[in-house]
Amino acid sequence: VSGRGGASRATPATKTADTLRLFVALWPEESLQEALLAESARFAALGRRLPARNLHVTLAFLGAVPRERVDDIAEAMRTAEPPACALVIDRLGYFKASRILWAGASEVPEALMQYQRRLCKRLRSARLHSEERAFKLHVSLLRDATRPAPEQMQTGLRLDWSVKDVALVASAQTAEGSRYRVLTRVAASG
Ligand code: ATP
Ligand code: MG
Repeated sequence: VSGRGGASRATPATKTADTLRLFVALWPEESLQEALLAESARFAALGRRLPARNLHVTLAFLGAVPRERVDDIAEAMRTAEPPACALVIDRLGYFKASRILWAGASEVPEALMQYQRRLCKRLRSARLHSEERAFKLHVSLLRDATRPAPEQMQTGLRLDWSVKDVALVASAQTAEGSRYRVLTRVAASG
């Protein structure tokens, strides 16, 4: 790719060696990922279960971004001031359009909602964030899923998630599906 170091033009980022597919996420500790995975076991017949290492909450999806902008993204994550908060994963849901079965929270901390909005605002002012979809906090558990019966969605699920940081994650498409790599973490405060 040419043009590096020159005045940056508004060229749409494409998938080249110079770009990364990025998103900002809440990244659970392994033990929580395993607990979330356990919850999807009884739905195995309904779709494709995501492996434990892939389970997360996306706060902002950036898509393909030039590598040299990683620091700007980390800066936006930091200046938006992530709040330490307690998230309780206690419900299941189903997205009909994307055929995703997910785990979520019946009460999302307001501080987290506000952070998500501040983050998107900062990313947009840095000409980074394109996604405008309304934010719905969720952990995808199953892909290509058929909708479970309502009684199957009833659950005694209760996973306490103490959110201590936010993560900038790179996604690589492989033959086995997406592989994620946490590039940096920004500590939450409060
Ligand atoms: P795959 O695309 O291989 O099925 P994936 O969707 O998990 O796997 P990515 O497409 O790289 O992998 O997405 C990374 C994260 O960003 C996921 O949480 C995904 O739901 C979310 N995401 C992807 N595209 C968008 C989008 N257009 N808007 C909002 N979130 C998105
Ligand atoms: Mg995808």
